[in-house]
Amino acid sequence: MELYETNQLKIYNSLNKSKEIFKPIVEGNVGMYVCGPTVYSNVHLGNVRTFMSFDLVFRYLKQLGYKVRYVRNITDAGHLENDADEGEDRIAKKARLEKIEPMEVVQRYTVDFHETLKKVNNLPPSIEPTATGHIVEQIEIIKDILDKGMAYEVNGSVYFDVLKYNETEHYGILSGRNIEDSIQNTRELDGQSEKKNPQDFALWKKAEEKHIMRWPSPWSDGFPGWHLECTAMSTKYLGETFDIHGGGMDLKFPHHECEIAQSKVKNKVNPVNYWMHANMLILNGQKMAKSTGNYILPNEIFTGENNILSKAFSPSATRFFMMQAHYRSVLDFSNDALEAAEKGYIKLMEALNKLDNIETGKESSINISDWKQRCYDAMNDDFNSPVLIANLFEAVKYINLLVEKKETISAPDFEELKNTMNTFVFDVLGLQNNSEQNACDKLNGVVEMLINMRKEARDNRDWALSDKIRDELASRGIQLKDGKEGTTFSIN
Ligand SMILES: [Zn+2]
Repeated sequence: MELYETNQLKIYNSLNKSKEIFKPIVEGNVGMYVCGPTVYSNVHLGNVRTFMSFDLVFRYLKQLGYKVRYVRNITDAGHLENDADEGEDRIAKKARLEKIEPMEVVQRYTVDFHETLKKVNNLPPSIEPTATGHIVEQIEIIKDILDKGMAYEVNGSVYFDVLKYNETEHYGILSGRNIEDSIQNTRELDGQSEKKNPQDFALWKKAEEKHIMRWPSPWSDGFPGWHLECTAMSTKYLGETFDIHGGGMDLKFPHHECEIAQSKVKNKVNPVNYWMHANMLILNGQKMAKSTGNYILPNEIFTGENNILSKAFSPSATRFFMMQAHYRSVLDFSNDALEAAEKGYIKLMEALNKLDNIETGKESSINISDWKQRCYDAMNDDFNSPVLIANLFEAVKYINLLVEKKETISAPDFEELKNTMNTFVFDVLGLQNNSEQNACDKLNGVVEMLINMRKEARDNRDWALSDKIRDELASRGIQLKDGKEGTTFSIN
């Protein structure tokens, strides 16, 4: 029996604006698609929060025993500077400014993205497809939408006809916008635009002569519109309708709205059963964003090289900071908040390190299975990590009292406490225990200190002391090796 059979998971569905009982299309299996990064710059902490939120979702679904296919794309073409299908392609622009190939830009920032997410201990998705690897599929979808009369071609570009779509469907179903308001609020087309209406969006753009990223199509040498890639890749790997689609709050409109419209025309079904949106990270009272310059890079936090924080913070402390907030809440980034999170993280790890010092007795003074269920209940309630953490700290208090022998625990309950702590702290929240590494660093420092003392002894021709240090270390399995560059050591 899998855990999902006894746990009722509820997910807040942005489409219906309510928490709903999660029921996957195929029992025991979950298909999840999350919009990935546009790889034209280093991933900033705001983006990382979004990907960490869905890492928590991925981890918990796996914990419940689901077989999850998690698809997260890489946008390596088609994302223009603004949402109105105007401006340069972000990657092509970076390539032009740095005088390198667009694919060099893509390679550099894809590597940075992977390295950063690895540092914060995000699990890799099951499939990570790229937009440029799916041009053929995107062209096929455009042909289909044209055949169904929901798009039109102008000078080699193809646009989705939003007003026509809205005659029979609701464009705005996810974001709650309605097209009449947007018609009133949008400026008139300036005559330069090829679109029939400002609400229309590009499925295919003809490349200008200087544009280096281009592919042949029935309409022109050009490139696909940004919204199309996600429809093409999610349909290809997860089917016409799949379970969960996630992304940052800012993608709701127009990106996800356009995805729904494309799928509804192409496949005549709703593409997604549960839409999930992660909230943003706030810095200096504003949304963290690359475009405004109001952001911090994860590496700047880990190295301490920044103007915002008083010191460096580890990836695990940073992850703990994120997990202390619910993914749908706005989270304020500040030095004080990080310091508080670091304290909490250390307290949690110290308690876990103490587990080995606990003696079991005949009876337990708290009900461990109740506590364990409360941990699951928290996560079953739309992945409520702050409530889960509050429950974990209840256990921390208990562990500390057990060490002081002020409480008691039976052997089977102790096993359950230990396993549940490990499950939620490491497997579900994805935290890592740095204290073992810290202890190791400290001991290395002690060996270095003894090596220096031995050198001083030798400089003073105190051979007895220098030999004693070497032999004592050797008897503990630490071998010293004298070389031209000084003395090094190895641990056997
Ligand atoms: Zn997307």
